[in-house]
Amino acid sequence: MVKAIVGANWGDEGKGKITDMLAADSDIVIRFQGGANAGHTIINEYGKFALHLLPSGSFNQNVTNMIGNGVALDIPELCKEIDEVVSRGVPKPNIVVSERCQVLMPYHKLFDQYEEERLSDRQFGSTKSGIAPFFSDKFSKIGFQVWELFEEEALKEKIKNVLEVKNLMLEHIYHKPLLNADELYITLKEYGKMIKPYVIDSVAFIHEAVKNGKNILLEGQLGSLKDPDFGIYPMTTSSSTLAGYGTVGAGIPPYEIKEIITVVKAYSSAVGAGAFVSEIFGDEADELRKRGGDGGEFGATTGRPRRMGWFDCVASRYGCRVQGTTQVAFTVLDVLGYLDEIPVCVGYEVDGEVIRDFPTTNKLEKAKPVLKVLKGWKTDIRGIKKYEDLPENCRKYIEFVEKELEVPITIVSNGPAREDIILR
Ligand code: GDP
Repeated sequence: MVKAIVGANWGDEGKGKITDMLAADSDIVIRFQGGANAGHTIINEYGKFALHLLPSGSFNQNVTNMIGNGVALDIPELCKEIDEVVSRGVPKPNIVVSERCQVLMPYHKLFDQYEEERLSDRQFGSTKSGIAPFFSDKFSKIGFQVWELFEEEALKEKIKNVLEVKNLMLEHIYHKPLLNADELYITLKEYGKMIKPYVIDSVAFIHEAVKNGKNILLEGQLGSLKDPDFGIYPMTTSSSTLAGYGTVGAGIPPYEIKEIITVVKAYSSAVGAGAFVSEIFGDEADELRKRGGDGGEFGATTGRPRRMGWFDCVASRYGCRVQGTTQVAFTVLDVLGYLDEIPVCVGYEVDGEVIRDFPTTNKLEKAKPVLKVLKGWKTDIRGIKKYEDLPENCRKYIEFVEKELEVPITIVSNGPAREDIILR
């Protein structure tokens, strides 16, 4: 049985927590896209962890954690994260890495930074983890799959060829120091040594696992609105954030993905530039940011303050739709307990017309939120275990959102810890 856990919004919906929780019943947890450019926060008996590349099943000894071929594999970052969890008392996680995974190069980070510098005030607000240059190279066919690290002569030759064009760019576009082929070769040999113990033929591995009825969890990073096709292009990420991409990024047969659990956040938050219709500002935003998530809404990878907004029914319904959602996990609901009234965005006004279907970016930039105000519940709902025990206005909020999403909310998260969960 294959399940996917993905985000409906801009990311940071609390997928890490839900994955960590569901990992207990899984044999395999797989990262199938993205890279180390976002973080999952997990709080469990070992403490609080910000994972970037490690799959969220890493705290569970019964789970094999796979880095799928669709991921931007930052080898030093992966090894650093493994060392970090081990140094904090977690038993060494079971990690496997697809031999078809592509390797994030040191120069991808440089090019990411140089391009943002060049763009100056037009920049994307990249995390500078090298993700956009990485995926550009992958699809330009000048990336390196993991197995290439072990083919010495071919590797040397390829480095020379790739650096030829990289150095032309460094010299003439960015005016930065050039790259040295011998140094890069030494670095990549080192990468090879570091990653070797984890490398597997993931296609054969997944085939066997599916055949033997293993429970597999696909763990998405970021959310629908960051998808390069269906998100707010070009303010998106560079690899698909959709559950369906698990078929490509992990090698899962499409018909095997039976459950798509989409994580939806009870209010909105986003990092980076781009249209954000239900965004709020000033004191109202500061208050929500301060109370949000677990100890404030600041990026898990960058520490940047997140942009804040009210719950957006238009964006979230669309976010669920493009994921192919079968059920919703509704998270960080406890955070809203301080509000007398809670506005939610139920439509977008574009050129005098109110729309309910999420539009393309040009229209999104003109859209004004149509707000409906729901009543708050003014209590702390952490610690509540049963749906019936939630305050009436809180249940009304959930049920209103559920109707708007057009998919059942089966999980409600009312606190950052593993046990802060209500199953409906
Ligand atoms: P992810 O990338 O989707 O895993 O999301 P992040 O981990 O970046 O952000 C979610 C933040 O919210 C983290 O700080 C979590 O600890 C926290 N969190 C998750 N679920 C809840 C919840 O139900 N209530 C509260 N207050 N915080 C939560």
